[in-house]
Amino acid sequence: MQVSHLPYCYFEGEIIPIEDAKVSIATHALQYGTGVFAGIRGYLDRDGSTINIFRLRDHMTRFSQSAGLIKIDLGVDIDGLCEIAVELTRRNAPTSNIYFRPYAYKSGLDLGPTLRGVDNNFAIYLLPLDNYYSAEDGLSVMVSSWSRIQDNAIPARGKISGAYINSAITKDEAVEYGFDDAILLNSRGKVSEGSACNMMLVRRGVLITPPVTADILEGITRRSVLQIARDAGIAVEEREVDRTELYVADEIFFCGTGVQVTPVTKIDRRPVGNGKVGPITSRIQRTFFDTVQGKTAEYREWLTPVAIEAAVAAD
Ligand code: PMP
Repeated sequence: MQVSHLPYCYFEGEIIPIEDAKVSIATHALQYGTGVFAGIRGYLDRDGSTINIFRLRDHMTRFSQSAGLIKIDLGVDIDGLCEIAVELTRRNAPTSNIYFRPYAYKSGLDLGPTLRGVDNNFAIYLLPLDNYYSAEDGLSVMVSSWSRIQDNAIPARGKISGAYINSAITKDEAVEYGFDDAILLNSRGKVSEGSACNMMLVRRGVLITPPVTADILEGITRRSVLQIARDAGIAVEEREVDRTELYVADEIFFCGTGVQVTPVTKIDRRPVGNGKVGPITSRIQRTFFDTVQGKTAEYREWLTPVAIEAAVAAD
């Protein structure tokens, strides 16, 4: 997916034009994958002049924890990170849905894959981003021939750049074979997650998702969906999931910042349930989109509204 970025980014402690944010080819993170990132959506409100940033604090908290896993001290607290994101939103004055990409990385030019003593830095840039899967059509997904990385090799709990080879190789295989995406089993043979999203299934009215110990990224959308389901009186189980449960599930869906809430209607070319988007998926999807678009007051606390003034962009 080729994208054009919004004009201003945060780089080496200041807001600058994105084309000036450059790093050396010898950068440690580029050589060894020693970076961590976040992905955050900002939704254009129905009023047309507010961007609602979804669960900004939660994303920045996980970003900071991911950084800590590879010994990067951001030098800015969570509030500070949120302020930078808000200020960047104002400066860029977007007129569409957007995506923030905070990136913390070993910026030193040191040779050798180690963590201690290598300089760090962090950046945030933005791009316009709409839905990249249509929410109405279910996806056709395969169970990957690749396994999910395990916690004591590369922790999936951290959003670590180098770990995304695991996602890329999985997604690539799925697309080569004519699927939209794939679900990975972990090294213990249990279901973990999609290539870049969490997954949920429904069996006999119960919403089931692999636990945080199943080598998954602890998704913020996952957490939101679980809360939406519980609040709607839907029974929820976080437990190990077998591969063949996917074949007998009534419903399956993906959730994540990128995919949002997207139904899966085929798994390994078998229809999921009756092959149509199921009622629990539809219900959760509706609440999720109403929430992020500011149509409901119920989960307002998940949104950081940023008022956009067109004039600010010309500063
Ligand atoms: N798992 C992986 C591997 C991901 O890359 C993502 C996207 N960030 C998710 C799950 C979903 O996490 P979140 O809902 O926090 O975006």
